[in-house]
Amino acid sequence: MGVLDGKISLVTGGSRGIGRAISIALAEAGSDIAINYAHNRERAEEVAAVITKLGRKAMVFHGDVSKTEDNDRMVDEVFKAFGSVQIVVNNAGITRDKSFVKMDRKMWDDVLTTNLTGPAMVIYRTIKPMIEAGWGRVINISSIVGQMGNFGQANYAAAKGGLAALTKTLAREFAKKNVTVNAVAPGFIETDMTAEVPDAALDAVRQLTPMGRLGKPEEVAATVVFLASPAASFITGEIIGVNGGMYM
Ligand code: NAP
Repeated sequence: MGVLDGKISLVTGGSRGIGRAISIALAEAGSDIAINYAHNRERAEEVAAVITKLGRKAMVFHGDVSKTEDNDRMVDEVFKAFGSVQIVVNNAGITRDKSFVKMDRKMWDDVLTTNLTGPAMVIYRTIKPMIEAGWGRVINISSIVGQMGNFGQANYAAAKGGLAALTKTLAREFAKKNVTVNAVAPGFIETDMTAEVPDAALDAVRQLTPMGRLGKPEEVAATVVFLASPAASFITGEIIGVNGGMYM
């Protein structure tokens, strides 16, 4: 018996990194999983295979969350395949780093539409059945960068800070309907995203992190499972840091 038995979760960007770990951890807790991906179908299917072996239903759904049509079609396909969704995890995200004066409009738009507008559109498309059912969990993956800023990440910081603000507003709007809306704000986590960061910068992160290391995707996933579980029934509008003490 898992704490999420009978639940259905949609995880955006579930093919790699943190989204992969979240998908598997939610399945270990008993949920069936709709895995969204943008490019890597093979990686998404590998995650689905792991989940199927756990005895849970898993299917993969292509869709770029930054594009309205893709987003709507993807969510409709999920509803068609699973019937309903009770847990939505907005995890898909990208970086396009440059110092602000060198950042072009496309870099700004790509990050804002993927990391902020995308989650808003996914919630818009999935929220009504949760409200009608009187139970739901929305969990947005924000970032420590949205809390403290970071050189070269004006677009990413604005999107992730905006996602935290969206989280608090929707938490207020849906609270009476028993739909909680929370965010997890990871520090620096070992994934493909941070593999692009120069070693010297990662060394600086380790020095600034009281725990002296980067985090693991599973450590973010455990917090998502907690927020989705009955144990978090009175928590809404929270931004929970998973950052080894780097920001407190
Ligand atoms: P990652 O390893 O680069 O994986 C990104 C995931 O997002 C992939 O599954 C990718 O799908 C998907 N994705 C990207 N653009 C998409 C789009 N337009 N539509 C749908 N899916 C899309 O990243 P990660 O490190 O796991 O990060 C996951 C989330 O945590 C992001 O929101 C990120 O901002 C946040 N975060 C990460 C860190 C960190 O240190 N890693 C820290 C704080 C917050 P494909 O495989 O198909 O490309």
